[in-house]
This record gives sequence, C-alpha cells and structure tokens, in this order.
Amino acid sequence: MTTASTSIATTSTAAAPIAPTATAAAPGAVATLAPRELGDVELVVLDMAGTTVVDDGGVEQAFALASERSGIALDDFERSLQYVRDTMGQSKIEVFRVLADGDEEAAQRANAAFEGAYAEIVERDGAAEVEGAADVIRELREAGASVVFTTGFAPTTRDAVLDALGWRDLADLALSPVDAGRGRPFPDLPLTALLRSGATSVSSMVVVGDTSSDVEAGTRAGAGLVVGVLTGAHDRAALEGAGAHAVIESIRDLPALLGLRGA
Ligand SMILES: [Mg+2]
Repeated sequence: MTTASTSIATTSTAAAPIAPTATAAAPGAVATLAPRELGDVELVVLDMAGTTVVDDGGVEQAFALASERSGIALDDFERSLQYVRDTMGQSKIEVFRVLADGDEEAAQRANAAFEGAYAEIVERDGAAEVEGAADVIRELREAGASVVFTTGFAPTTRDAVLDALGWRDLADLALSPVDAGRGRPFPDLPLTALLRSGATSVSSMVVVGDTSSDVEAGTRAGAGLVVGVLTGAHDRAALEGAGAHAVIESIRDLPALLGLRGA
C-alpha cells in the first residue's frame, strides 16, 4: 500500500534506490563494525551542529552568555559547562531543566537567553557547512532517499542556522524536539522523520550524528544503520560506546559507506 499523502516532497521515484554495500570504503571511511542487514535506504536523518554544520564552540559560547544573562549555573559554571558538553545533542530546554534543578521558570529564562545568544553568534559569525555536507545531501536525494535534519535547538535557532547557510530547501524537512515530542536520546526525532517522510520501515532509515545522544536516538528508533561522525562533540569511543554501527571521519564519507561511491 502506498502512502496517500506525505508532508514532504519526495524525490524522483525513477531514481535507483541506494544499495548499501560494506565493500570498498573510501580512504578515510572507517567502518568499525559491519553494517547490519540493511534494506534499500529510503531515509537519511542528519544532525545539524557538529555533523553537517560546523560548531566552532558556538554552543558553548552561547551557554556562557546565557549563564551570565540568566544567572543560571553561575556558581558552578565549569561543572555545568561539562554537563552541557556531555549532553550535547539533547534538547536544550531539557538540559536547562536539569541545571535549574526543577525551577521551570529559571529553565525557560535560561533557554530563552541561550536561543537569543546563539542567534546573535550566528548573526555575527555566520554559519559554515562541514565540508562537502551540501553535496552529500544532494547526492542522497538524487539517489532517491529523503533527507531530514534533526537538532536539539528550538525552531527559531534551527531556522536561523539554515537561513545563514541558504539551506532552507536543501533537505526535505528539519525537525526540532518540539516538532517530535521528546528530544534525544529518545527516539522521537528519527521516528517523526520516518513518519513524515513516508519511509516504509525503520530498517530503511540511516541516522547520522556527532554525539552519543544522536547515536542512542538512532538505535532506540531501530534504524537500520546508525553512524557516528568525528567532526563534532564526541570521540570514537563515546560514539561506539553508545552503539554506533559505524564511525566515519566526516559526513563526506557517508556516500561511500552506503555504497554510493567507490564501489
Ligand atoms: Mg550535533
């Protein structure tokens, strides 16, 4: 049975489906574990900051500004900053709820300060793609896969980043935690991407991210392939420890991992 209506534009049905192979990884593409049985890839879910968009410490700068402006976590700033690093990729409001120790008003105030500070940083410094990311996304879509961005940012921050890159129409869809329910490490973001894309099975979904929370969300969603990248917050050990099926240097190596190049 076909899906009567999907909310996102799908690419040409004439395009050949991606046939993933575990062979001939390109230089730099290090498949640390053999991919599990993977059907044709219908959907690729990509994290933003650290995976497709360069994070040059902007998130930490925004957190420092938010702390200053809202007063949250000021008395134990270093420990709080470490918590922000460890939970990178998770819903920012959830992170602030923990730091505010149950004070919902303080958490909301800090989150608003964070979103404002991050928007200022993007406005001032612009945003840059992880080298090759846009080309990879176009290649995946041309091969017939839907591509969905996911992020822990609120929609206004997410859209400010996409606008700074001219990326509003690059992927099929972009999702923030509020669009899905719970943020990472819960499976809501990838599962919402799956439902919205009309993909036929969780095994046809590939989830890619730079944090252990991204990886955990992908495995909890049952994705056929969960891939960690080393261009962001967490290292190989953290990504593998969270259950990544493969870890690659960069999003640039994804097409080869999926058998699109170098086969
Ligand atoms: Mg990230």
